Amino acid sequence: MSNFLAIDQGTTSSRAIVFNSQQNSVVDSQKEYKLSYPNDGWVEADPTDILNTVKETVSNVLAQNNSIIACGITNQRESTVVWSRETGEPIYPVIIWQDRRTHQFCKELIDSGHEKMVRDKTGLVIDPYFSATKIKWILDNVIGARDLAKDNKLMFGTIDSFLIYSLTKEKGHFTDVTNASRTMLFNINSMEWDSDLLDLFDIPLSMMPDVKPCDGNFGTLDLDNKRINIKGVIGDQQAALVGQNCFSYGDIKSTYGTGCFLMVNTKEKIITLDEGLLTTVGYQLNSEINYAIEGSIYSCGNIIQWLRDKLKFFANAKDSESFLNKNGNSKNVHFLPAFNGLGAPYWNSDIRGGFYGITQDCDNADLTTAAFKSICYQTRDITELLNKNNIKINSLYIDGGMTANKTFCQLLSNTLQANISKPANIESTALGACIVSQIAEGFSVKDIKLVLEDVYEPDTSSEEFYTKDYLLWKDYIHRTISNIKQ
Ligand code: ADP
Repeated sequence: MSNFLAIDQGTTSSRAIVFNSQQNSVVDSQKEYKLSYPNDGWVEADPTDILNTVKETVSNVLAQNNSIIACGITNQRESTVVWSRETGEPIYPVIIWQDRRTHQFCKELIDSGHEKMVRDKTGLVIDPYFSATKIKWILDNVIGARDLAKDNKLMFGTIDSFLIYSLTKEKGHFTDVTNASRTMLFNINSMEWDSDLLDLFDIPLSMMPDVKPCDGNFGTLDLDNKRINIKGVIGDQQAALVGQNCFSYGDIKSTYGTGCFLMVNTKEKIITLDEGLLTTVGYQLNSEINYAIEGSIYSCGNIIQWLRDKLKFFANAKDSESFLNKNGNSKNVHFLPAFNGLGAPYWNSDIRGGFYGITQDCDNADLTTAAFKSICYQTRDITELLNKNNIKINSLYIDGGMTANKTFCQLLSNTLQANISKPANIESTALGACIVSQIAEGFSVKDIKLVLEDVYEPDTSSEEFYTKDYLLWKDYIHRTISNIKQ
């Protein structure tokens, strides 16, 4: 037995990968599932679909490789499930992290002055993104849910908890510190559920899972008559931080999947930047807690999906590359990437997407280029804030589905005017889950080597063009935000 199983439960698909002890992928299985959009700003998933795609992909890989030492789970964070303690059945669909239905309530909390308290305790801004208001919405809107919760008959979990509960022999109710830190109910100073916050959101403590370090014991996966110890749990963005070997102070990774998440390791320091960036738990391994600063961007690869599925510009996400102008010229068209509002650093739930500056001779290549640039410019928003706060970016480690697109990676390097490093294995998230379970099994961080595939260096001659273009894009965003306020 020498291999490790990583379960990567993402926003658009579930994946199981078997890695060997040198962190090379041995067998891989992936299955997509559908999200639903029942109302403006609402995003849901069927918990059974999530569970079935996980079971199916794990069965597929175990059928091909059964010499597994331990399993690590990584998952989409914040997405919220509430299920019955008696039957194990969810009482409502999964409310996905992108869902904005609680934005009015969040506004009320901000207006009534709770922002600082929430920020000090959790490192987060008050936003529908996090689990707390999603749980409250379920308790307030599913008939009978409040009474069931009071009678200790409901359990809350992010997807990791739901998988552990549903797939283990012991049916434990656990989560890890990273997932807990994204609920807006977890105090990242004391590292426990916070009673003031539970009171504020009217959520009973009895619904909450026990919080363990990432390399804790989470139970025994029991599937197809096979039993594997779950020795690692870590939220997807933190998993990418680990998978990219960002173990030192100031190491930065950015993941370009459905959303985009930039994360900086700040080791034992809780650094708060009051400009729309979040402070969060990076990981807890070998008892050591590491914190991180995070910039969360909601719309990223989903923009490419939208160009593919709704505007029908291309049949395949990878074909988008041929529509992306290498020199970044979009004939002055700019894209506002706000299908579900804007995350860092704007945190605006009311804004919606748009194109600006379209003229008669614009074509789908210009619109595609504008869309790609908006992803780069959102990253630049965050790197500018980090620079302003003396957190210098020398090299950015990137991963996620979009980084298969080399033209995009070069565009990113040009727009940021920074070196971009891409590892050979862009499945950093799954790799991070594998590494966490390996550390639980006694591996040392020093045994873990990151193999780089590409380093993109910026075309310095384009610096002026991109700075000007970025400022025009930012101006478009600010004008739109101020129009909403009127
Ligand atoms: P997640 O883990 O959030 O489900 P992934 O990391 O698997 O996401 O990335 C999938 C996203 O990447 C999709 O939104 C898809 O549109 C985008 N994507 C995949 N390949 C490409 C490509 N070659 N060019 C641009 N975007 C791509």
